[in-house]
Amino acid sequence: MLSTEALKIPQPEYALGSILVVEDEDTIRETIGLALEEEGYDVLLAEDGYSALSIAHRSIPIDLIVLDIMLPYINGLDFCRMLRHEGNNVPVIMLSAKGSESDRIVGLEVGADDYLTKPFGMGELVARCRALMRRCRFDTQLQGNILRFGDIIMYPHECRVLVRGEEINLSPKEFRILELFMGHPRRVWSREQLLEKIWGTDFVGDSKTVDVHIRWLREKLESDPSEPKYLLTVRGFGYRLG
Ligand code: CA
Repeated sequence: MLSTEALKIPQPEYALGSILVVEDEDTIRETIGLALEEEGYDVLLAEDGYSALSIAHRSIPIDLIVLDIMLPYINGLDFCRMLRHEGNNVPVIMLSAKGSESDRIVGLEVGADDYLTKPFGMGELVARCRALMRRCRFDTQLQGNILRFGDIIMYPHECRVLVRGEEINLSPKEFRILELFMGHPRRVWSREQLLEKIWGTDFVGDSKTVDVHIRWLREKLESDPSEPKYLLTVRGFGYRLG
């Protein structure tokens, strides 16, 4: 007789990465989620474009998005456009009930990396996720994780930053703030979010600390710190890059 132990699906000891599944049809969303979880991925689920966007804007790292085109509120094509506009390069596999060539082309044009037509087998979806993730990780390794924005080039692993070709010296806090901004161009960060991410939740102090560091960063990055081109103030909200 088989023990229950023998029936357990072997799980990898570490997660292979996290995948956000955006699909409004409950059965499909849950089936995809389970199939990916069984493969060892961490899975996040969203049932419409709005919740997907709010998950993408939280600072949980997402390694891949499985995205249905027909969604309530914000459809998959617009959602993908928004991500790319914000400089978010997370790999996207688009799902569509329509199999026409033009849908596929539009999907790829708005920045999807792969495209799958319903109905599809879970085996195929899982294989594509695995392949796309591997490809993107390889690309990132090849580029050595260099972050670029305008005239700013950042080498996170070497803790080096070049601005208009000249190396600049940043304090560890300034470096981490800039790295956060460079990783999410055009995303608005509130002072509270920056405090939490850079200083940690147990930091006791006020949000003026953030303003001071932004001012120091501007002095190092901007040609004219009083007319910033990179670190912009978004009144009533916080700061963004570009
Ligand atoms: Ca749908």
